Amino acid sequence: MKLTEREHALVLMVHHIAAEAWTVTHLVRELMALYAGFYDGPSSTLPLPTVTYDAYVRHQLETIDRPLVQAQLAFWRDQLDGASPGLPLETDRPRAAGAGHRGKRRRFELSRERSDALRELGRSEGATLFMTLLAAFQALLHRSYGATDLSIGTPVFTRDRPGLEDVVGCCMNTVVLRTDLGGDPSFRTLLRRARQTSLDAFAHQDVPFDEVVAALGPERDGAAAPLFRTMLIVHSLQQPTLRMAGLEVEPLDVDAEAAVTDLTLLVEAGETLHGAFEYDTELFDDASIDRLCDRFVTLTDAIVERPESPLSDLPLLGAEERHRVTVIWNDTDTGAPERPSACIHDLVDEQAERTPDAVAVETEDERVTYGDLRMAADHVAARLADAGLAAGVAVGVALHPSPSAVIAALAVLRAGGVYVPLDPHQPRARLREIVADAGIAGVLTQASALGDASWIDARVIDLDAERQAISGRAPERAEARVGGDAPAYLLYTSGSTGIPKGVVVPHRALVNQVRWRQEAFDLTPADRVLLHTPLTFDPSVWELFGPLAAGARLIVPPHANERDPARLAEAMARHRATLLQAVPTLVSALLDEDAIDACTDLRLVLCGGEPLSAKLRDCCHAHLSADLHNLYGPTETTIDATHWACRRDDGRPVIPIGRPIANVRTYVVDDRLRPVPVGVPGELCIAGAGVALGYHGRADETAARFPPDPYDGRPGARMFRSGDRARWRADGTLEWLGRSDDQVKVRGQRIELGEVEAVLARHPDVRVAAAVVTDGGERLVAFVTAASERQPDASALTRFVAGRLPRSMVPSAFLTLPELPRTPGGKLDRRALATLALDGPGRSAPHTVAPRDDLERLLVGLWEELLPGSHVGVTDDFFELGGHSLLAMRLTARVRAKFGTDLPVAALIEDRTIEALGRRLRQEARSTTSLSQIR
Ligand code: AMP
Ligand code: MG
Repeated sequence: MKLTEREHALVLMVHHIAAEAWTVTHLVRELMALYAGFYDGPSSTLPLPTVTYDAYVRHQLETIDRPLVQAQLAFWRDQLDGASPGLPLETDRPRAAGAGHRGKRRRFELSRERSDALRELGRSEGATLFMTLLAAFQALLHRSYGATDLSIGTPVFTRDRPGLEDVVGCCMNTVVLRTDLGGDPSFRTLLRRARQTSLDAFAHQDVPFDEVVAALGPERDGAAAPLFRTMLIVHSLQQPTLRMAGLEVEPLDVDAEAAVTDLTLLVEAGETLHGAFEYDTELFDDASIDRLCDRFVTLTDAIVERPESPLSDLPLLGAEERHRVTVIWNDTDTGAPERPSACIHDLVDEQAERTPDAVAVETEDERVTYGDLRMAADHVAARLADAGLAAGVAVGVALHPSPSAVIAALAVLRAGGVYVPLDPHQPRARLREIVADAGIAGVLTQASALGDASWIDARVIDLDAERQAISGRAPERAEARVGGDAPAYLLYTSGSTGIPKGVVVPHRALVNQVRWRQEAFDLTPADRVLLHTPLTFDPSVWELFGPLAAGARLIVPPHANERDPARLAEAMARHRATLLQAVPTLVSALLDEDAIDACTDLRLVLCGGEPLSAKLRDCCHAHLSADLHNLYGPTETTIDATHWACRRDDGRPVIPIGRPIANVRTYVVDDRLRPVPVGVPGELCIAGAGVALGYHGRADETAARFPPDPYDGRPGARMFRSGDRARWRADGTLEWLGRSDDQVKVRGQRIELGEVEAVLARHPDVRVAAAVVTDGGERLVAFVTAASERQPDASALTRFVAGRLPRSMVPSAFLTLPELPRTPGGKLDRRALATLALDGPGRSAPHTVAPRDDLERLLVGLWEELLPGSHVGVTDDFFELGGHSLLAMRLTARVRAKFGTDLPVAALIEDRTIEALGRRLRQEARSTTSLSQIR
């Protein structure tokens, strides 16, 4: 190509199948020789090749059946047995089916000293530069992605007979270098392993790669290469000095814009090492490879300095990347708090002073102003003080979401106490356990919530029964000053050992959350926010205080305690709610309700507690004009720690959990709590203003889960190890990847499988128990083995668990197995159980008993609408057919609509078949008459 009058480029394009690097070098030599010959006159001085490419190929084919090749195949079968080709690389994008091999190269250079030092290190172990680079590449992949079994491909030239040097064509083979990186070896040990791997592989390099692939018959997955997806190529070919008479010649760098594998490390081994990472641009972002490059340079530095250190000790993060993930992306400090000693009720009080006549809480038939709310809270606080329930004392509030609950919670705090929500729905055994563990001295309740409360081992104050006495008391300001560091609430979550554990949250953490949300969501007195989240789930704490701190109106829907999506949607429409906070499962159920279309004032949907799927995001955007937000945070870090605002024009398949909120910092760390690089999965740790004080009365567990925060200079600062796996994305947002333990979510409720299992194992008919979650977090399924001849009975087990654990922790199905499946290591094989659970205990059970009367026929119709695909018999168990508590709520709502009978959701736990439900409905009809028309 003529570039200018006196400047030309010679471009030669050859498919790799016809030429490898050797051939290209050879061609350049021949070109120079020919040029010289023609320059002096029209003559060619090149000898004819002694071996042609087809002779080479024939030779190759002839050797295939020889015993040598068979023996080599046996080696490869053995060597690659059970290897996995893919890196555990968390690529930036998943591999698309039929994706091409578009690629790029990112070049780098190792300095002369570093190159020499690497060569020297290799020599000390009798290893070539290739082997040393292999070990370094392996160390990089191991440290970056946690891989311990790595298969890396490399080309070998097959010009191993005299005469083959000048064959033009592709004379090469590929071998797979598989190395075990287990046991956290030092680099020197790894180098020895890499050396042995290489020697073994090269000693068995005669069998063509295709044959190895055919012999091993690895699973092919469409677009991906078999056996290996990363390569190392080290060139040490002496490049001829370009010299042509009468010309100035220099090499031109051309990018092929293709990638041979997912990721290839190419090294040109001159005096200094010139390297490049060639990568598939379908899989990787440029920025990810830039960082990989930086890490490789950082790592090789450390390797030559400390070859004896275990790999896990070597630094991986360059100073720049470390600074980015620990400091820049955590730059959330809003400056010194205005009043570090502020308590959460102060914020509500200040609002009450500003707008005493504004409506604070609204229900179907009641409106409470800010002034009245404060007065009522004052009265109750005074009553608490009279009872000696004051500063630092844990006080239970056993109420459903209601105006009374708001007053009670405010009163407890005003009196200086610690608010402990108790769910009246929960079994007595569990409530007793919590009252004892928290050291609760008094309980605020109402007969309508808890009924008879005499079994509670604490002083019970019934707000209804004592109404006169309480409001008759002089409304003097009862106020015990506690500071921002004092505990505000104590919230119990599932504990893996079988006992719930209490998280102690200080005022300042809650104040931070409330202030951040107010600012981020621009809350004003014009907002109307629902109080509907169960009070034992920490987002409810924000519902209780956050809107009131902003002067907004709190709306308590009727029957909030039932969590019935139909009623909730109607209430949102009627009260013109502007903000809804809910777990994804509930948001999804609400979107199915017709009434949601009437919620035209809704401007914000705050989703959290569970992963938010792209499907739900799209559905939400399609139905609502409200903005959708994804919020993430464990109870231990006060409601939410990170935040992501979904955008309508953003169709990304995975929704991030976003960035840390104000005054909160997040770290993604390895198992030694060191930050891992961008893109690399690690444990998410949360530090800063939201961190709880710890687990009540559990110093050991607190110490284990709340280690010191190494990035906070202040003494005593601690962070929380969430147990969540996450990674940083290149744009500084976090992506949630899953749990690293057996904590699960069932329709938004946090559950330790160990707690369910421990309770089940206490049943006399059960020897061991295991639980798994299926259907994308919808169903909890339990497996048990029998303790004796007697087979455990599903309904007996249900009652047993329901008597001890909250409803969300009661499995919807039980399956008795002779033994629980174990992994080869002897651990419980939850994956096998999950597969068993999917096949569904009971789900495949043949439909047996047909409905026998109109009532049963109607019920079958209702069930089949809710359990699509099921053919329902009247003796089938609702939960075994795939029913769960959300569906149970819908079922009871439909029964109510059809028969006018108020069927409590709990009835379905007792009466799980149509037969039994029909019986119950008939009994109720005897006292009313609502069923007469269908009888
Ligand atoms: P909880 O203490 O009930 O708030 O549960 C906290 C746990 O719920 C976290 O540790 C996560 O495992 C999960 N979680 C909460 N929010 C999200 C979210 N937005 N995306 C994914 N998981 C979440
Ligand atoms: Mg949470």
